[in-house]
Formats: sequence, structure tokens, C-alpha cells
Amino acid sequence: MEEVVIVGAGVAGLTLGYKLSKQGYRVTVLEKEAKVGGLARSFQYDDFIFDIGPHRFHTEDTKVLKFIDDILGQNVISIPRMSGVWMFGKFHDWPLRPRDIFKFPIKVMWHAALEMFTNTHREGETFESYILNRYGETLYNVFFEPYTEKFLHIKPKDLHRDWAISGIDRAVIDKKVSVNSSLDLLKTTLLPKPIKTEFLYPSYGGIDVFAELLAQGIRENNGQVILNTRPTVVRTQEGKIVELQCGKQKFEVDHLVWTAPINVLTDLLDMADPGLRYLAIACFNVEIEGPPRHDYQWCYFGGYDTLFNRSSIPMLFSPATAPEGMHGICIEVSCLEGDACWRNPDALSEVLKFQLRVGGMCEDTSCIRRIHIERIPNTYPIYDMGFQQRLKNVKAELGQVANLSLLGRTGTFWYNNMDHSIRMALDMAEDIVSGQSRQKSYDRKL
Ligand SMILES: Cc1cc2nc3c(=O)[nH]c(=O)nc-3n(C[C@H](O)[C@H](O)[C@H](O)COP(=O)(O)OP(=O)(O)OC[C@H]3O[C@@H](n4cnc5c(N)ncnc54)[C@H](O)[C@@H]3O)c2cc1C
Repeated sequence: MEEVVIVGAGVAGLTLGYKLSKQGYRVTVLEKEAKVGGLARSFQYDDFIFDIGPHRFHTEDTKVLKFIDDILGQNVISIPRMSGVWMFGKFHDWPLRPRDIFKFPIKVMWHAALEMFTNTHREGETFESYILNRYGETLYNVFFEPYTEKFLHIKPKDLHRDWAISGIDRAVIDKKVSVNSSLDLLKTTLLPKPIKTEFLYPSYGGIDVFAELLAQGIRENNGQVILNTRPTVVRTQEGKIVELQCGKQKFEVDHLVWTAPINVLTDLLDMADPGLRYLAIACFNVEIEGPPRHDYQWCYFGGYDTLFNRSSIPMLFSPATAPEGMHGICIEVSCLEGDACWRNPDALSEVLKFQLRVGGMCEDTSCIRRIHIERIPNTYPIYDMGFQQRLKNVKAELGQVANLSLLGRTGTFWYNNMDHSIRMALDMAEDIVSGQSRQKSYDRKL
């Protein structure tokens, strides 16, 4: 049987490894971190468990649902979604509900409503023109522009509209909740009852229970999942990758599947920098005395009154993630690797403590017990203008390597969700088993 080496133990790499190892392939998964799960891993500090921001399974893809069910079995709970947005110094349901609309300043309400009927079309492929066409200037100015600029550190006019197409999908994730234009938003807002959507979460532990079960399955099927290791040399011969070296360890390769950042691979192959950048985040995992002060599992913060973009409360996903009488809040601050926040996130702790109060999440700072900071690289692909051509070029160049496949969110530069990475991996496993072309593109689909 073939030797399949998979770089990266996120949900994509592990799903593929699990499926192939079950079919008798010799599978080795190499992971640079000390834990599996990638972006869907969790951190445990005594009795507290935190994921990387809010993480839950939500999909209508029956193939993926069946796979999640096969892996998690009985260890799953279904939870009604409750998400919010902090605007004008108050919490509102997201998507907005009638009672929230009336909390907006009257001028904003009036202008946003008027623009639903008077909005004019702007040409162009930028995020800015896309959002202005859909939501008009008022909602763009009060929410989308500051949120995006604060989040991505890039001006909306320099951002490709693909970010909006994927991003709005991400924010509202549930297909039943359509907010694809001001009118949609109004319809959703004025519905007599909020639309109920549910998501899945492990009944014990954090979201990484899923990845841990996959890794366990791979090992039971005689595969290997090796942590704290990363390729340092990629040896090629006659247009194929034949060996990976991780320090002194060597791994023979019949087929290499790459789920780590593309620029790491091009660097190892001595190719030019593809010019693709990823956003990083610093997660401030805060332990707080007492119950949560609101019911939102996660909440977006668009304005400049806070440094952070989003908060999430793990115990509203599963009560098993916090000790009794306490709760955790994960505060996400986006940054770029190497910038001031990335180098010294500690310096932000005091400001963030204060902003937790400003953002209505704790009464005073004395209820904050401890803050744990985790720096996470490569969290989001940055869709700046021109990224599509650069991505196409690098994929064409990598496509010359006969036994190489790119997979997953980070490996294909796709702003996706776990269900998409799982689906991609399931499809790739079927293709490998049936002997179909390795060159087939497992591209992002917007
Ligand atoms: C804040 C946040 C919230 C999210 N919320 C949700 C949600 O609610 N629901 C949902 O479905 N999805 C959510 N997602 C998306 C989801 O996390 C991803 O779609 C999914 O985890 C991607 O898995 P992957 O295996 O494709 O990529 P990754 O998880 O990025 O896996 C890549 C792996 O490669 C490893 N790696 C990197 N470099 C190297 C190297 N040189 N050598 C070896 N290994 C390396 C990484 O450590 C990582 O383990 C969220 C993402 C973020 C960032």
C-alpha cells in the first residue's frame, strides 16, 4: 500500500488520514503544534476549556453530517444559536430583531431605510463596492467598514469582494437566515419570530474532541500522528516529491497532501514567494467569576470603542467547559505576524480588561481571575485585490508536482468552515482510493 504523508493535523488532514488509514493506506500525519485540531483545537487551563473563538458544527451537507455522527457518536449536543452584535453602546441580536432596530439612533434608522429604495449600483470588484451595492452607505459606514478595517487591517477598497461573499456567509452561516441585502435584512428583522437554528457541539470537552477522536482512529488503524514536528527539507526527483525530512527524521513519500500554509511549501520547494498573506489572531482567554452577563454564544464588535472583533463564551456552547459559578470569555484580537500585538500581546491585557467592562461583559475588573493569551497564526487567508491571480499562478506551479495535493482551509487558501474542510477531505479520500487524478483541483467554492 502507498505511503501517504499529510502535513497538518487540522480537521482536513485528520479526516483524510482517518479515511485512508481505514482503507489500509500507510498514513503519517505531521503536525507542528503539540496538539491536534489546527484551528479547531482547544486549550485547557485547570477546569476551563476554550476553543479558538466560537467553534461549532453547522452544515446541511448530509455526507459531512453522517461523518460527524460516525465520529462523535453519542458525544454530541444540539444547541440553539444565539449570536449578537455590539453597536451604539448596546447589545443587539444578530441577525437584528425588531426590538433591536428601535435601539438604533433615529438618524441611522431613517437613512438605512431610505437607501433600501434609493441605492445606486457601483462598478468594481472590491469589498467596498459589493457591500455598498447590497446594504447602502449607512450600514456600510456604521458597521461593515469599521468592522472590516479593524479586523483585517486593510481598507475595504483594497479588499476583494470574495471576502464579503465568504465573510457574510461565515457571519450568518445558517442558510435559513438570509441577510444578503438591506431588504433581506429588513425581512429577517421584521419577521414575527426569530428564525431558530441549531448547531452541534461535543457533549464533553471542547471542539477538539472531534480531532482527538480522528487522531485516535488513525493510530488504531496503524497510522502515525506525529506532533511537534515540521518538514525542514522536501526532496524531489523527476517532478515528484520522494522524501520529507523533519530535522533528523526522514519520511518516504508516495503521495504528499499539504494542509499547512502555501507559502511554507513554496519556500521549502525553493519557489518564489506567492504573495499570499494570512491573518493571525491573539486569543485572550479570560476566566471570570460569576455567570455570563448576556446569552450570546458569540458577539461581533464593529466599532473602535473596543480593540477586539469578537467575544465568545464557551459555557454557552457546553456547560462542561467552565467550573461551577464561573465562566470564560474568549476575546479575539486580529493581528499580523510580527506586528506589535503579535510580538507583545501582554501589553494589551489591561486595556482589554477595561474594555470588557465597556463592552458590557463584566461589572468591574475585580471579577476577572486570570487571562491566558494564545497566539494563533494563519487563521484567515487575506483576500486582497489581485489575490485570485497570484493564487492561480502558484497552484499552476505546484500542479507540476505529480504526487502533491493541496487540501483544507490553509492549504488551499480558502476562507471556509470545518464542514467544507471535512467534505474536501472525504472527496479526496474517495479519489485516492479509486485511483483518480491527484491533480484534480479541490478548490475553494464561494
Ligand atoms: C476564530 C475562528 C472561528 C471559527 N469558527 C468556526 C465555526 O464555528 N464553525 C466552523 O465550521 N468553522 C469555524 N472556523 C473555521 C475552521 O476552524 C476551519 O475551517 C477548519 O478548522 C480548517 O481546518 P483545516 O484542517 O482545513 O486547516 P487548519 O486547521 O489550518 O490545519 C492546518 C494544520 O497545519 C498545521 N501546520 C501549519 N504549518 C505547519 C508546518 N510547517 N508543519 C506541520 N504542520 C503545520 C497547523 O498547525 C494546523 O494544525 C473558524 C475559524 C476561526 C479562525
